[in-house]
Amino acid sequence: MDFDLGGKTEQLRKEIRKFALAEVVGKPYRTAMLEEESEDEDWEFSLSISRKLAQKKWLCMNWPEQYGGTGASYWEQFVYSEEAGYYEIPGTSMGISGTGINGPSLMLFGSEEQKQKYLPLIASGDPDGIWCTAYSEPDSGSDYNKIKTIAIKSGDDYIINGQKVWTSCAHRARWCWLACKTDPTSNKIHKSMSIIIVDMKSPGITTRPLINLSGIHSFNEVFFDNVRVPASNLVGEENKGFYMLIPALAIERLSLAPHVLGTGRRILELLVRYARENNHRGKPLSEDSIVRHKLAERSLELETLRLFGLEIMWKMSTGKMPGYEAARNKLYCNIVTDNMARTGLEILGANAQISPNSRWAKLRGRCQDLYLVNMGWFSAAGTMEIQKNVIGQFKLGLPRAY
Ligand SMILES: Cc1cc2nc3c(=O)[nH]c(=O)nc-3n(C[C@H](O)[C@H](O)[C@H](O)COP(=O)(O)OP(=O)(O)OC[C@H]3O[C@@H](n4cnc5c(N)ncnc54)[C@H](O)[C@@H]3O)c2cc1C
Repeated sequence: MDFDLGGKTEQLRKEIRKFALAEVVGKPYRTAMLEEESEDEDWEFSLSISRKLAQKKWLCMNWPEQYGGTGASYWEQFVYSEEAGYYEIPGTSMGISGTGINGPSLMLFGSEEQKQKYLPLIASGDPDGIWCTAYSEPDSGSDYNKIKTIAIKSGDDYIINGQKVWTSCAHRARWCWLACKTDPTSNKIHKSMSIIIVDMKSPGITTRPLINLSGIHSFNEVFFDNVRVPASNLVGEENKGFYMLIPALAIERLSLAPHVLGTGRRILELLVRYARENNHRGKPLSEDSIVRHKLAERSLELETLRLFGLEIMWKMSTGKMPGYEAARNKLYCNIVTDNMARTGLEILGANAQISPNSRWAKLRGRCQDLYLVNMGWFSAAGTMEIQKNVIGQFKLGLPRAY
């Protein structure tokens, strides 16, 4: 097996490093593991980096040129995401989802008019290119059959009523990728749900913050009260939204591995250095067999994650859409991140009790942040149990779990 990704790709890795060292490393912003978790002052920095990434045509590099990309290969995209994770480059996703979920989904299912209107905006790093994704509702999380938000056709418009919850970045997004019912007479989601693009500036939308366990405003409740949207904002066919939602979820899940790999590489390097430089009972932590074994385990997990990530890229580069592998990678990203965070907290010992915001926090509070953020990641984009159900059904041929 040859894992050399080629001269062009490795050259790109060097250029991203150079960019990160010049524009990001050492800058006074608070690293957010998830972009939407940035505090307001850091969000501005995040946007300024988005624009710089856009100028280099990196923000959506694997999109076709007419939509703001360069038609870069999957391997280049992988390396870009990995290095963005490693160097904690903010502003890579245009909200929670513009570059990674909604743009690619529009590319698959949107009309040419929609592609021309929305994709170049996302790729330009403009604040009007920021998106949120609204699937979850108070009674509908894993089970989309219970979606109640409804859009009823009225002349050339849809009128939308309902409530969404946990909508990441809704307070900053200009556009919303909304899953809603368009046939109230059917109780079958695959025959009654549609995807509609909603301008978040429309009258009748109220966004209320939900503060997460880190004390950060990253997600929201969103209320739709007679919100009027042009019917041309429907993506694909009416009542066929379920067939777009499933690939959109796969796109979201499969895009995680390289970024998590990069973040993990960085933290593992920092932990190895910390273990060398700090003593326990008069001896460097790096000589303690428990510490060494934990670090070795984390290293193996990252190697496995790299292979999982590359396998999906290879599959896609041969024109195939990954199946259960997207669920596998999402699940494994959660496991790798959780283990990395726990190992970090254990090695830091009492220092791990210091708030990640404190100037006394070791490793800039990254391990505490990672541990807290991952609690949400376990659920976001589908819970661990849902990923295991997918693996059971599509990898092992077990009966469906719903
Ligand atoms: C940080 C974060 C960001 C998020 N961002 C967004 C966003 O931007 N947009 C959005 O729409 N949503 C978002 N979500 C919501 C997320 O998608 C949901 O939390 C997730 O789909 C689970 O839904 P739920 O919380 O309603 O739990 P439920 O579906 O009610 O599940 C509760 C528990 O039951 C288990 N369970 C449910 N069904 C099954 C089953 N069939 N088999 C086995 N176990 C099952 C689940 O695994 C879970 O443990 C976000 C969540 C978090 C934490």
